[in-house]
Amino acid sequence: MSEIHKFLFEGLPVRGVLVRLTDAWTEILRRHAAGHAAGAYPPPVQSMLGEMMAAATLMQSNIKFNGSLIMQIFGDGPVKLAVAEVQPDFGLRATATIAGDVAADASLSMLVNVNNEGKCAITLDPQTKFPGQQAYQGVVPLFGDAREKLESLSDVLQHYMLQSEQLDTTLVLAANDQVAAGLLIQRLPLAGVGNLAGSLVSQANEDEIGRNEHYKRIAILASSLKREELLTLDVETILRRLFWEESLVRFEPQAGEAAPHFSCTCSRERVSNMILGLGTEEAQDIVAERGEIEVGCEFCGAQYHFDPIDVTWIFREAGDLPPASAAMQ
Ligand SMILES: [Zn+2]
Repeated sequence: MSEIHKFLFEGLPVRGVLVRLTDAWTEILRRHAAGHAAGAYPPPVQSMLGEMMAAATLMQSNIKFNGSLIMQIFGDGPVKLAVAEVQPDFGLRATATIAGDVAADASLSMLVNVNNEGKCAITLDPQTKFPGQQAYQGVVPLFGDAREKLESLSDVLQHYMLQSEQLDTTLVLAANDQVAAGLLIQRLPLAGVGNLAGSLVSQANEDEIGRNEHYKRIAILASSLKREELLTLDVETILRRLFWEESLVRFEPQAGEAAPHFSCTCSRERVSNMILGLGTEEAQDIVAERGEIEVGCEFCGAQYHFDPIDVTWIFREAGDLPPASAAMQ
């Protein structure tokens, strides 16, 4: 079963999260393989997407935010787009679009950053928005400070976290066809003491980047975790092996009912809105050509069919809606 474990280092400004996705991850892979003629993802794509799924789950569990977290990689190689989404209840879904050949031993840059133009975007989309409120999005390149191509997703995301949260973060990620797992270690921000001191605190916090001795020690321990260990060992063994000299405060794990699980947010209504977005002319052209509009969900494989009458109704219903002001009278 999939699980999330959060913990603190007693008395130290450091926290951690360990995620292991098993059934949730294999369900994502199974649905992709079942819905595509080409079958399962090539192993390098599988492991990149699994690492994205584990990282997105770690990030969602590490922030106080009621909305979906969407991690996207816009690639300039054979993988054009990879998406991993986590809902507030840890409903997970992910998909990757491949156009071209993927070498059996393709590195991250060979998949998505051939010309150093790949990007990683993280979107926080609140569940309930105020009028005019936009989703928050942060974008980072897939290269480092000297424009060198980064070859691990954890390097890309550590860079992102430092930029967006001004917090030192260490990530270890790994995925295969059975497990997608990750460990996150983060320095806690210095506590704020009211508005007046707020700017002083944030300055002090920035000054602390890369300098906290406790964080540095724990980050080194975390980084010693090997990919193979993360994939094969259970949570208790991993934490004991890495941090046996530290004093951990554990939280109730998210397992069982609260565990991360596969779930897709697609619906007939959302697809209708997409067809509405095409405009009546283009939608009717497709119907004339193919007899219906068929839309498949890339995440779960669901197929939505709209016959000519359905399509006419979508536009009629939208057109018949009275303007808001008229409805008020
Ligand atoms: Zn779906």
